[in-house]
Amino acid sequence: AVAAVPEGLPAVLTLTLALGVERMASRKAVVRRLSAVEALGSVTVIATDKTGTLTENQMQVRELLSDRPERALLAMVIASDAEVGLEVGDPMELALYDYAAGQGLDPKEIKNRYPRVDSRPFDSEWKFMRVTTSENGKATSLLKGAPEVILQRCRLSSAELERWQNTAREKAAQGFRLLAVAEGDGSGEENLQFLGLIALWDPPRPEVPEAIRKAQAAGIKVVMITGDHPATARAVADAVGLPPGETVTGESLESLSDQELQQLMSRANVFARVNPEHKLRLVEALKNQGQIVAMTGDGVNDAPALKRADVGVAMGQRGSDVTREVADLILLDDNFATIVAAIEEGRSIYENIQKFIRFLFATNLSEILVIVLGYVGAFALGLRDQAGAILLPLTAAQILWMNLITDGLPAVVLGLMDVPPRNPNAPLLDRLSLAFVLFAGVAKGAVGLLLLWILPQRGLSLEATRSAVFHVLVIGQLFYTYAARVAHEIPPNNAWVHAAVAGGIAIQLAVAFVPAVGETLAVTPVSAEGWLWISGSLIVILASVFVFTSVLRHRFLERRA
Ligand code: ADP
Ligand code: MG
Repeated sequence: AVAAVPEGLPAVLTLTLALGVERMASRKAVVRRLSAVEALGSVTVIATDKTGTLTENQMQVRELLSDRPERALLAMVIASDAEVGLEVGDPMELALYDYAAGQGLDPKEIKNRYPRVDSRPFDSEWKFMRVTTSENGKATSLLKGAPEVILQRCRLSSAELERWQNTAREKAAQGFRLLAVAEGDGSGEENLQFLGLIALWDPPRPEVPEAIRKAQAAGIKVVMITGDHPATARAVADAVGLPPGETVTGESLESLSDQELQQLMSRANVFARVNPEHKLRLVEALKNQGQIVAMTGDGVNDAPALKRADVGVAMGQRGSDVTREVADLILLDDNFATIVAAIEEGRSIYENIQKFIRFLFATNLSEILVIVLGYVGAFALGLRDQAGAILLPLTAAQILWMNLITDGLPAVVLGLMDVPPRNPNAPLLDRLSLAFVLFAGVAKGAVGLLLLWILPQRGLSLEATRSAVFHVLVIGQLFYTYAARVAHEIPPNNAWVHAAVAGGIAIQLAVAFVPAVGETLAVTPVSAEGWLWISGSLIVILASVFVFTSVLRHRFLERRA
C-alpha cells in the first residue's frame, strides 16, 4: 500500500499552491480562492480598464477651455464629491481642486459658501453628476461629466455645439481625459448653460508596455474596456503599446447580434464609453468564444461582470468593496503589470504540480512492479527468508525509506511565460506525462526485477541482492527528478534541485556504506561486482529514460507547433 499510494501528493499539492499564493502576494496579487490559481494559469484574454490600471491615476488639469472661466472654476469645485484638504476621493476631483486653488480660489471656502441642497452622484451608467446649491436664496445646479452627455443637455446653437464637439475630439485624440461643466436653474438637468471643457492628463504607467509585450508573447490577448472617450482610449492604448485594432463604443454594441459581436471581438481591442451592462455582454461573448477571461472592475455595477469572468480582478486601492467581495484576485497596487505577474505565477504553479505528479507516479509504478512481480517470482522459485516466509524483494522499512526520500524532494519553481496558455480542458496528467510515467516506471521496475534474477546467480546473497535493488531504485528515482523536468518545455537550472538530489544520494550512500546506518534498514554490504551491476543498471535506466523523454518532448512540441 505504501508503494502504491502517492502519499506525498496531498502535502506537496497544498504546499505548492500555498507557496505560490504567497509568492503572488509578494508580487502584490492577492488570490482570494485557492482554486483561482488554476484558472489564472490558463487565462487567454485580459480585459482591463484604463484609468488607474493602465494609467497612474495621477490626474492633472492641463487646460480649461471656457468662455466663462469663473463660473467653470466654481462648477469644478462645487460639483465634486472629494473631501477638500484631506486628499480623500477621486484623484480626478482632487486634481480639479488643485487647479482651482492654482487659479487663486479657495475650494474649502467655496464649499462652505455654497452648501449642497440636493445632488445626483456620478455613475458610469449616466456619466455625469449634479450638485444643487442655494446661491443668494436661489437654487442653482452645477454639473460635470463626459462632454457628449453634458453637451447634449445644453442650450447651444448648432455651430457652437459643433465647435465644442470638435475641440473635445481633438483633445481626446491627444490622450487627454475630458470633462465638461455646465449650470442650470433649480435642480434641472436639461436646458443647461455650457461652461467649458477641462482636459486632464493621466500618465500611462511605465511598466505597462513591457507587461503587454509579455502577455502577448505568452499568447494572451489584451483588450481595454473603459468608460472614457473613444479617442482618449485609443491614444492611451497606443501609448501603452496595445497593438493596432478597431476601437468600438459601448453604444454600437447594443445593436449587434451575438454572432456579429463574436466577429467584432476578434478585430477590436479597445472598447470605449462602455457601461457595466456592456461589460457583462463582452465577458459573455468572450466566454462563448471559449476564451478564459480575466476582467478588472472598480465600480459597484461591475460586480456581475467580475463574477461572470473566469478570473474577476478587483483593485486594492481604488474601487468598491463589492467588487473586492466577488473578485478572485485583488491587485494591491491596482497595476496591470501585476495581473501578468499573477498569471505567470499561476502557470508555473500548475507546471510544478504536473512535474511532481509525473515524478511521484513514476516512482510508484516501478515500486509496484518490483514488489508485486518480485514477490510472485520469489513464490514461484520457493525463495524464503530465515523465518520461512516468502522473501519480499524489498523490506517494509526499505519501502518506507524510499518513499521518504523520494517524495520529500521539494517541488521547484520556474518562470514559464513564453509558452502558450494551456488548454483548460487538458488533464493534469497529459499524454506526455502519462507516457513518461509508464516508460520511466516500467524501465526501472524491469531493471530491478532483472537484478533480482541475475544477482543471486552471480553469487550475491539474497540480502545483498535485495540491498542492491534498493540502491538502484532510490538513486534512480533521485535522478528521475531531472528526467521529469526534461519532459517539460524548458529544463530549468535550479540550485535547489541539484542540492536535493545530491543530498539524497549522499544519504543513500551512507545507508550503503555505514553499517550502523544500513542495519536499521536491513541493508547488507554489496560486493564490488554488485556495485558494478548497480552502476550499469543506473546508466541503462537513466540513458533510456532521457533518450525517451527527449524524443517524446520533441515530437510533442512539433505536433503542437
Ligand atoms: P473610466 O474610469 O473607465 O474612464 P468612467 O465610467 O468612470 O470610466 O468615466 C466615464 C466618463 O465619465 C469619463 O471620461 C469622464 O468624462 C466622466 N467622469 C468620470 N468620473 C467622473 C466624476 N466623478 N464626475 C463627473 N464625471 C466623471
Ligand atoms: Mg472611473
